[in-house]
Amino acid sequence: MVRRLAADFGVRDRRVLAAMGRVPRHRFVRPHLRAQAYSVHALPIGEAQTISQPAVVARMSELLKVGSEHSVLEIGTGSGYQTAILAELARRVFSLEIVPSLAQAAIRRIRELGYDNVKIQVFDGTCGWSDAAPFDRILVTAGAPALPEPLVEQLAPRGRLVIPEGERTAQRLVVYDQRAKSVHRRVGEAVAFVPLVGKHGWNAENGS
Ligand code: SAH
Repeated sequence: MVRRLAADFGVRDRRVLAAMGRVPRHRFVRPHLRAQAYSVHALPIGEAQTISQPAVVARMSELLKVGSEHSVLEIGTGSGYQTAILAELARRVFSLEIVPSLAQAAIRRIRELGYDNVKIQVFDGTCGWSDAAPFDRILVTAGAPALPEPLVEQLAPRGRLVIPEGERTAQRLVVYDQRAKSVHRRVGEAVAFVPLVGKHGWNAENGS
């Protein structure tokens, strides 16, 4: 999988490739899908949610430019796979998941794998995690209609935030950089994440 990420998907960041080589992806998928864990596809994890494709996880991790001294906030824990990659790269990882059963399964996996620098909570991530702010890096792994304002407020000076922004089923990766007097915004490649639902996200039921 790591060889394909480098050769076929253009992933260059050595720390990201090393992290993807260390985290056992099969531990984050359901037992009957384990044979497909290292394929290039997204897979269902229950509750109508998915574990992202390895290439998307790698690309987002690369774009985020995570340093070993960084405190990172992740929105959308899901299986906890991206959380584990971030735990390999950063000093501290805070991750929020809105579906309790997914958060519980992710907490168990992260504990079993021995990561002691991760905190996962059940909460609407569109409101951020004010008690643990500010964050050097923020990664949103669900598709948002727009950037939730509380996340900008919780970004450290010179911080970076990566978020899929756009429609309910199709988005573009957007990178925000906190500069001295303004926030710089750059639009990147097309992606397809499940919707970010919540106070500053999509409405859970009717798609508005
Ligand atoms: N990064 C995950 C994939 C995430 S799928 C992985 O590697 O497995 C997106 C996740 O975001 C889903 O689990 C969904 O329940 C969650 N989510 C959606 N809206 C959210 C919100 N407002 N706060 C926190 N989590 C949310």
